[in-house]
Amino acid sequence: MASTTRIWTDVDFDRDGKQFGCLRLPFSTDLSAYGTIPIPIVCIRNGTGPTALLVAGNHGDEYEGQVALAKLARQIEAWDVSGRIILLPALNSPAVTAGRRVSPLDEGNLNRMFPGDANGTPTQMIAHYVTKILLPMSSIVIDLHSGGRSLHYLPCCMIRSSSSDMETSKLIELMQIFGAPYGSISDGSAGGGATTLSATAQALGVLAITTELGGGASLSSTGEALARDGTVRCLKHLGILPNAPVAPAGTTRIMRVNGKQAFAYAPVRGIFEPMIEIGDEVVAGQCAGFLHPLDGPDQPVTAVHCAQSGLVACRRAPAFTEAGDCLFKLLSDAD
Ligand SMILES: [Zn+2]
Repeated sequence: MASTTRIWTDVDFDRDGKQFGCLRLPFSTDLSAYGTIPIPIVCIRNGTGPTALLVAGNHGDEYEGQVALAKLARQIEAWDVSGRIILLPALNSPAVTAGRRVSPLDEGNLNRMFPGDANGTPTQMIAHYVTKILLPMSSIVIDLHSGGRSLHYLPCCMIRSSSSDMETSKLIELMQIFGAPYGSISDGSAGGGATTLSATAQALGVLAITTELGGGASLSSTGEALARDGTVRCLKHLGILPNAPVAPAGTTRIMRVNGKQAFAYAPVRGIFEPMIEIGDEVVAGQCAGFLHPLDGPDQPVTAVHCAQSGLVACRRAPAFTEAGDCLFKLLSDAD
C-alpha cells in the first residue's frame, strides 16, 4: 500500500476555530482532465485535547447519520469544544450524491475497502486517506450507518470485540452512553471482516463504535435524533463537548452476534414473504418466511426457518430476492 495520499484539503486541522471545507480527490475524466471530487469536511477545534472523528455516508443510501452530522456541524461552535471534532457527513460522496450504497465511479463499497490504496480507485483512495491521515489524529471514531436500501434495522449501536478485555469494556461503556435501545458485540467475522473502517480503527488503537439507525433508504426521525444525541453524549463523556446540554441515555440491551448461524440467507431466488419483523423474539426452528417462485404456481414455495433463538435485528427490505441474499440477522443476549 503506497503511503502518500493524493487527496488534499485547504482545511488546516491544527487551526483553532470552525472550518467548512472539502477533501479534494483527483478524478480525471473526458470532460474534466484536472477534475476533483469534493468530499465535505468540517473541522472544529479549540486548543489541545482528544480528537473525535464523526463519519456518515460511508454507505450513500443510509440517511440518519448524514442529516445528524450536518445538523451538528451547523450547531457546534469552537467555544463548545475542548480538543477537536472532524465531521465527514458524506464520506463516500460519489455514493451519497448517487443515492447508492456503493460508488457509481468504481462500484466501490467503501466499508469493504479498508485500509485502502493511495493510488487505487476513488473509493480505495478515500479509505486510504481515512486510514493514513484521519484515524492517526483521532481518539475515537463514530461511524453512523443504517440499513440502506436492502435492510430494515432496529436502532442499535455496534462494537467489535477485542482481545483486550479493557478495550471491550470501554467500548461497552461507550455503547451504553450512546444510548441506543440495543447494543451489539460482534467479532466482525460475518460482515466486512478486516475490510471495514471500524476494523482498521481498532487495529490502529482508535476506539470505534458504529450504528444501525433505521433502513429501507428512508429517514427515521427517531434514528436521526439518536444519532445526534448519542454522538453528543459520547463526546461529552470524553470531555470534547464538556458542557453540551443533552438528554440522558436510555437503557441499552447488550447483545451479541452468535456466529454465522445468526444470519439467514435465501436458499433460492424468489419473492420473500416475511413472517417475522424486526424486534420479534424468535425460537430456533420457527418459520421466518417464504420464498415464492417467480416461475409460476406449479413450482414449490420454499419455507425459511430460524437456525437459532434470538431477537430479529434486521430483515431484508425488498421482496425480490436472489439466492444468497441475507434475509435476516438475529442477536442473542450477551452473558
Ligand atoms: Zn452502512
